[in-house]
Amino acid sequence: MNQTCRSEDCELWDVAIVGGALSGASTALILKRKDPSLRIVLIEKNTSFKRRVGEATVEVSGYFLCRTLGLTRFLTQTQLCKNGLRFWFSNKESENLGDCSEIGGRYLSTVPSFLLDRSVLDEEVLSRAREMGVSIIRPALVKSVDLYEGGEQTLHLQTENSDKTIKARWVIDASGVRCLLARKNNWYKPNPSHPTLAAWTRWKGVKDWDDANLAEKYPSLSKNYVGIRGTATNHIIGDGWWAWWIALKGGDTSIGVVIDQRRAKWPPEEEPLGEKIREFLSSHPVAREMMDGAEYIEGDINFRRNLPYSSSVQSGDGFALTGDALAFIDPFYSPGMDWIAFSTMAAVNLVMAWRKGENIQVLSDKLNKQFAMSYQRMFEALYLNKYDYLGDYEIMRLGFRLDIAFYYSFIAYFLFKDGEEGFKEIPFTSPQATPIFALMRLYNSRFAAIARKRREDGRFGRLNSGQRDLFPGFNFNRSFLLKIITKSLFAWALLEIKEGWKSWPVFNLNTANDQAIEEGEPSQA
Ligand SMILES: Cc1cc2nc3c(=O)[nH]c(=O)nc-3n(C[C@H](O)[C@H](O)[C@H](O)COP(=O)(O)OP(=O)(O)OC[C@H]3O[C@@H](n4cnc5c(N)ncnc54)[C@H](O)[C@@H]3O)c2cc1C
Repeated sequence: MNQTCRSEDCELWDVAIVGGALSGASTALILKRKDPSLRIVLIEKNTSFKRRVGEATVEVSGYFLCRTLGLTRFLTQTQLCKNGLRFWFSNKESENLGDCSEIGGRYLSTVPSFLLDRSVLDEEVLSRAREMGVSIIRPALVKSVDLYEGGEQTLHLQTENSDKTIKARWVIDASGVRCLLARKNNWYKPNPSHPTLAAWTRWKGVKDWDDANLAEKYPSLSKNYVGIRGTATNHIIGDGWWAWWIALKGGDTSIGVVIDQRRAKWPPEEEPLGEKIREFLSSHPVAREMMDGAEYIEGDINFRRNLPYSSSVQSGDGFALTGDALAFIDPFYSPGMDWIAFSTMAAVNLVMAWRKGENIQVLSDKLNKQFAMSYQRMFEALYLNKYDYLGDYEIMRLGFRLDIAFYYSFIAYFLFKDGEEGFKEIPFTSPQATPIFALMRLYNSRFAAIARKRREDGRFGRLNSGQRDLFPGFNFNRSFLLKIITKSLFAWALLEIKEGWKSWPVFNLNTANDQAIEEGEPSQA
């Protein structure tokens, strides 16, 4: 073994990382910080990063970027501070933006989060890893990896000039949606019970949500309002679909549509994707107003079908999967970088445990179970059939309050309380999390059932016009969160008494259409 290797010619690396975007670069950076003597090589296939999705952080990912990676100053100087989530609804009565029902904070957010240009962020993290002494081979494609548990891993690379082979004690797969290890080893599992599709581009000339002309045109926007709408993640919501509007530093706006293919129809192939996004969104008065005069950026065209999947294996003695290489569920609520944070820290802990001579198999077995459980529970608690109800202001208002209050109370809270140790609390896996998971799964499935009944009765989205719910915002005060949860559970109970009972299984009122949707058949929106 070459004990002094620092360059690409090292014969046996301690850690080889596939993929240099956020998952890979942050794993490299944190490992180097924890143990500068580790010999780490990172292989990235692109010479530079393009703009991609993953542009909004939430509280956990905000913590990870600011405190774990130490990027607070960089983020506040080069990116936009985010001001929470906003949702815009419409129905037949909404003729213009002013009529559309809105949910969002009244004030600015209290917990740091950001709107990011991922090409800038990922480049920064990678360059910090390089400065810490991580060797970077770029551009180079890892064609395949031969795993040997407890031994040396072999990576086959294609560089600009030649093919080469390198060996490492550990390989970290941060290859994103390519899922290098999961696909090769048959661990890759699509999730057909959630057939979502996404299309996104960046735009120039999108209107400013906080513009004086808009405020004059729609005076109701300014009433009792204190915050900044333009730096929220704004969500335009329809029946079975939603679109994100994320402002980027410098003036461009990222706009992407996500649809449940059982509930909404994506326009046919003929038009360019940007035009299709415009056409699709123009059914919504808020989108129509905000996109008037805007142009999408040619060439920045992105489309992905069937978004969710997971790997049945997270790690073994000698390898770990992080970020999208491990799993992806749904972009609603922006959980992608939270997942990067938890899976990156798990990979780091495995390598550090190996460094200390601990039993890797025991730790890895535990992590394999935890990540599989976390994925499944997060999916069932938050996303299964969510698109059945997210287009109804009244139901979504309740779902949103409960989802976020539980996220603050039982996921983000541990980080701000325990620091980095909080990352060991993989979401939804502790015994205490089991009743919370069961409750979330229950209300989520009940909201979906109530929404389906409303749709059947022609009452879906009846309050999507004329309502403005400007709540004070979330923080970590336990009694405040408990109050939100109690009030929302009470409102749910009332909803069940008023109309929910009509969809209780005991009344057996499920229609053929509901059945078809549960079984995954396409339906016309
Ligand atoms: C529609 C949509 C919207 C989203 N919105 C959000 C959001 O608002 N907030 C959020 O937190 N998350 C969001 N996400 C999720 C987020 O984009 C991902 O979680 C995140 O980008 C994953 O980062 P990563 O580093 O794991 O993978 P990637 O960013 O995909 O990086 C993988 C890297 O590996 C490199 N690579 C791949 N294969 C090889 C190889 N064989 N050899 C060498 N290099 C290789 C690639 O070039 C790339 O640089 C969204 C996802 C989707 C689909």
